[in-house]
Amino acid sequence: MSEQITGQITVAGVAVDTRHWIGGRRAASARTFTDLSPIDGSALGEIARGGQAEVDAAVTAAQDAFPGWAATPRAGRAAVLRAIAEGVEKRLEELAAVETADNGALLRSHRRGVMPRVAHNFRFFADWLESLGHDDFDTRGHANHVSWDPAGPCALITPWNAPLMLATWKIAPALAAGDTVVLKPAEWSPLTASLLADIAAAAGLPDGVLNVVQGLGAEAGAALVEHPGIRRISFTGSVPTARRIARSAAANLTPLSLELGGKSPLLVFADADLDLAVDLAVEQYDNAGQVCLAATRLLVESPIAEEFTRRFTERAAALVQGDPREEATDVGPNIHPRQVDKIDGFVRRALAAGARAVVGGERGDGLYYRPTLLTDVAQDSEIVQEEVFGPVLTLQTFDTEEEAVRMANDTRFGLAATVATGDRERARRVTERLVAGTVWVNCFFVRDLRAPFGGSRESGVGREGGTWSFDFYCDLKNTVTAP
Ligand code: NAD
Repeated sequence: MSEQITGQITVAGVAVDTRHWIGGRRAASARTFTDLSPIDGSALGEIARGGQAEVDAAVTAAQDAFPGWAATPRAGRAAVLRAIAEGVEKRLEELAAVETADNGALLRSHRRGVMPRVAHNFRFFADWLESLGHDDFDTRGHANHVSWDPAGPCALITPWNAPLMLATWKIAPALAAGDTVVLKPAEWSPLTASLLADIAAAAGLPDGVLNVVQGLGAEAGAALVEHPGIRRISFTGSVPTARRIARSAAANLTPLSLELGGKSPLLVFADADLDLAVDLAVEQYDNAGQVCLAATRLLVESPIAEEFTRRFTERAAALVQGDPREEATDVGPNIHPRQVDKIDGFVRRALAAGARAVVGGERGDGLYYRPTLLTDVAQDSEIVQEEVFGPVLTLQTFDTEEEAVRMANDTRFGLAATVATGDRERARRVTERLVAGTVWVNCFFVRDLRAPFGGSRESGVGREGGTWSFDFYCDLKNTVTAP
């Protein structure tokens, strides 16, 4: 699948530069790390392994480029963002193929959903920037003028489950705001970030505005978030890493945005459209369960639990697991051997504690884990409380609305929740009481980029999306002028 050239590999027929992108130039490192494809475990190539020196160079490049980019008129910045969106669309097939080889998510999802969304991220924030009005008001004859000033170089740290989508969800608003960025992609899926650097350069983004430092979290990632030249940190990833990053941010008082894990519930009431509820539940195996928003806890009202489980089991058995490049595949591999071991550890411990695997419950070949549904699980058990980040769901029953809400809210997370009910009044009552950044009623994963996105409790700090992203990347200033 790959072949090593100096700094270049070929993945799915696409040439990818494996070096950093700093100040508009490729930069190598003395050390490398190996990037594996989850499809078959093969090595895709050796990737530059950055550390303090590369981070210092990238932050310096971002600092040098900042005054020019910040001073670029809004229309000029918006035009470059739109040119990047076009570049993404032009190379959509290549980006989709490389992302699938690198992180194992379905090619058809990358083609039809993820990569179009990557382009949309840039267009959306270009439009946002141009539609930004003025906030002017009067205080006893004094004129207040609020302005959105660019904040400076930003550190962006992203996970492997939706690499380019999540990176551009941060890059686009930061660039729109007039900031410059240093991106440290996840080491298990570093490739499309490198292609994005090529696309951005071809689109006319000035050197140093977007920098990509490849490497490991504890090395390049840690050096980046500790850097005093960084004015914003935006992180998407796990809770333990977020705690480390927050400690680094505290040293420099760097404002930070954290999008973290979840253990979201799907509440199925007896009055729900059962076909829809089963569809929503089966959808949680998307991306082999490696979705932060996944509703991994199925909470089903007792009278319909047996019928729900029967229909769910039938549907789950029909899922096609296999090569994510095949159109017919529903569930692909998990990202890395370590992740598969982690998933299996959760399932083994749950089974030992008395859980029953109604569906799956074991490894498949290679990095494939069987879609799994566990019942007979206790509310305070590890499998109900901790994020697995694999194709593993639990099913619990409830008898009253009160109990459903209590169980739904009873974890330390609060990222999302989904409610299936045929009763609008019930939907209103229940959603009002759910602790979650996003609540879906009789639907799942419907996203509008204007909406706030993020988590409550340990699922995050702050919100992304529309005004929330844009404001985060700006230093807001109020100027008061006497009459
Ligand atoms: P992770 O925390 O292990 O790694 C995320 C990124 O942080 C990687 O780029 C990694 O290299 C970097 N990193 C690791 N240690 C670091 C350090 N000390 N300093 C700076 N950077 C460091 O998370 P992961 O396993 O890649 O991603 C899975 C997690 O991400 C899950 O918990 C999932 O729920 C969460 N996630 C959340 C969202 C959301 O929007 N809320 C979206 C996707 C994934």
